[in-house]
Amino acid sequence: MNQEKSPGRVIIVHHSEIALKKGNRSFFESRLRTNIKQSLRDVPGVDVRIDFGRFLIYLEDFVDIDLVVQRLKQVIGIASFKVAFKGSSDPEILKEQVFDKVKHLQFESFRVDTRRADKQFPFKSVEVNQIVGARIHTAMKKRVDLKNAQLVVNIEIFNKQVFYAVDSYPGERGLPVGSTGKVVSMLSAGIDSPVSSFRMMKRGCQVIFVHFHSYPFTEKSSVYNAIELARKLTVYQNHSKVYIVPLGDVQKEIIIASPPKLRVVMYRRMMFRLAERIAQKEGARAIITGESLGQVASQTLENIAAISEVVDMPVLRPLIGMEKEEIIRSSRQIGLFEISIEPCADSCSYLVPQRPETKARPEQVHAAEEKMGDWQALLDRALQETEVEQLDFPE
Ligand code: ATP
Ligand code: MG
Repeated sequence: MNQEKSPGRVIIVHHSEIALKKGNRSFFESRLRTNIKQSLRDVPGVDVRIDFGRFLIYLEDFVDIDLVVQRLKQVIGIASFKVAFKGSSDPEILKEQVFDKVKHLQFESFRVDTRRADKQFPFKSVEVNQIVGARIHTAMKKRVDLKNAQLVVNIEIFNKQVFYAVDSYPGERGLPVGSTGKVVSMLSAGIDSPVSSFRMMKRGCQVIFVHFHSYPFTEKSSVYNAIELARKLTVYQNHSKVYIVPLGDVQKEIIIASPPKLRVVMYRRMMFRLAERIAQKEGARAIITGESLGQVASQTLENIAAISEVVDMPVLRPLIGMEKEEIIRSSRQIGLFEISIEPCADSCSYLVPQRPETKARPEQVHAAEEKMGDWQALLDRALQETEVEQLDFPE
C-alpha cells in the first residue's frame, strides 16, 4: 500500500498478453515490473508499483517525463500507458480539469472511462462518466462512442485519490523479456538474425548472442557490427551477453577437407555445435537463427536438415516464412537496418564458392567431417578463445 504518497502525476501502465495467462499472472507482472525498473534505473524520482490492481509508476514533480515516455515505449510487455494527473474528488471541479486538457485536441468521437477501486468514493463510475462526458459533449459538440472512440479519457479512482489521463502512448507489446526463458541467438552482422532475435525477445525470451568471426583470416569488422547490433537490441532487454567466437581455424580445416561446394553447410554445422555448447553453459533451451526458407543457398530444406541434425536442442527460426521485404521493414522499424547494411567481412562468406551446394547429402557431409580428423579439439579451442562482451542499457 502506498498511503503516504500523493504525487501530482502517475503513469498508468496497461500490459499486453499477461492477462491471458491466468495462473501465471503475478509471475508475468513481477517480471514486467522488474524490467520497467531496469529500464528506468538511471532516472531518479520514479517508483514502479502494482497497487490497487493497477500497474502504476509514481513520479516525483522533477521527473523528466519525456525521458520516461521514451523508455517505456521500449519495454516489451507494455500494451499502452498513460500519463495521469491528480484531479479533484469533486466531479464538478474534475470535469473542468479534464475539459482543460481536451479542449485543444483534435478528435471526432470520445468516451470517458472511469474505474473506481475505492468503493467509499461517493460517486459511482457511471456518474463520473456522465458528468465529465456531458461537459465535453456540450462544449465541443463531439460524439460519444463507447466502442471506437478516437479519444478515451481515463479516470482512475483509488486510495482516496482521483487521477485523469488523456494522452495514451502505444507500447511495444509482447511478453516481458525473461518470462519465457533463455535462448541463444546466432547473430551475424546481416539483416536477418537481429530481427529474428528481436522477435524472440517479444515472445518473452532473454536472448544471449553468439557471433562467429574469421579474424585474423579476415578483418574484424563483422565483430564490431554485431556488437553494435546487439547494443541496439539491448535497449529491449537491458542486459546482454555477446559471445564472440573465433571460427577461422575450424574453417581452415574445413577448406582443406571438403569440396568447395559443401563449405557453407560444413561451417554452419560447426557453428551449431558451438552454439549448443554455449546454450548448455548458459541454461538456454533453444538456438535461434535468422534463416528464411529459400533465401540463399544454405537455406533449402535439404540444407536445413543437414545442418540441424548435429544438435539435440530445438532450433527455432522465427523468420522462416517471411519475405525479405517484410524482414527489412522490421529491421528499419527497430533501427537496425543502417548497421546491418554496413559492409563487413562475414565469416560465412569467407572463402565461399560461387555456387554452393543447395542439396547437401548427409553422407557427403559426414565423409568430409571424417576427413577433418579431430575437429572436437578445434571446437574446444574455439571456445577457450571465445570472448564475452557484456552490454547494459541504460549504460
Ligand atoms: P543474416 O542476414 O542474419 O546474416 P543471411 O541471409 O546472411 O542471414 P546466412 O548467411 O545463410 O543468411 O545465415 C543464416 C543464419 O545463420 C543467420 O541468420 C544467423 O542466424 C546465422 N549466422 C550466419 N553467419 C553467422 C555468424 N558469422 N555468426 C553468427 N551467426 C551466423
Ligand atoms: Mg549474413
